Amino acid sequence: MTAIAIDGPAGAGKSTIARKAAQKLGFLYVDTGALYRAVGLFMLQQGVDPGDAHTVIPLLKSVSVSLEYREGEQRVILCGEDVSDKIRTDDVSLAASRVSPIPEVRSFLFSLQQDIAKANNVVMDGRDIGTVVLPDAQVKIFLTASAEERARRRYFQLIHSGVKANYGDVLQDLKQRDYNDTHRAVSPLKRADDAVLMDTTKDSLGQSVARLIRIVEQKTGGKIS
Ligand code: C5P
Repeated sequence: MTAIAIDGPAGAGKSTIARKAAQKLGFLYVDTGALYRAVGLFMLQQGVDPGDAHTVIPLLKSVSVSLEYREGEQRVILCGEDVSDKIRTDDVSLAASRVSPIPEVRSFLFSLQQDIAKANNVVMDGRDIGTVVLPDAQVKIFLTASAEERARRRYFQLIHSGVKANYGDVLQDLKQRDYNDTHRAVSPLKRADDAVLMDTTKDSLGQSVARLIRIVEQKTGGKIS
């Protein structure tokens, strides 16, 4: 099996670029953030503080989360319910980033991610894929862009979907999430030593996908199994 690990900060375009690259390569696209979001949503549904490890840890035994694929699209199933749309709210983003530093939450989701990569060729994106989840991935990419460009993209995404947004607030939220993700004790976001750095600040989506595919071809010598 071939694994392509893509890590990077929020808003770097990881999921869009990874999804398109997976389509082109005929690989399964695995968005691991969705798993943390599902756990975050579960805690919100239980009415507990997602950042309170003492309450969250015992509740994990009641969480069942899995990924299913319908027509190539990843769906997230939480306790039998498809929550793929529900996990995309700002509240759930925040809840995900609050449960994710808890080591028990990370180990709870660890084997699920590894098992998918054992059974499929994957493009997997997240924060710790190249460093922790798939340290032996054939291709590792650290995808980033300037905070201002990432905030600009997020701002226009919100405006286009009819949500009122303020650029300054979006930039501040993004910097806060960057700080949280890079400073947590367990599996902090960092570039793996052997990851290729890809800065997409000046690239269009099409250019980024093409660059990523070129890196994959170089690294695998065009041989994908
Ligand atoms: O990628 P996404 O924004 O959906 O991730 C939501 C949150 O889940 C992130 O802010 C991060 O705290 C956490 N996460 C993580 N490790 C991953 C993927 C996501 O800690 N592999």
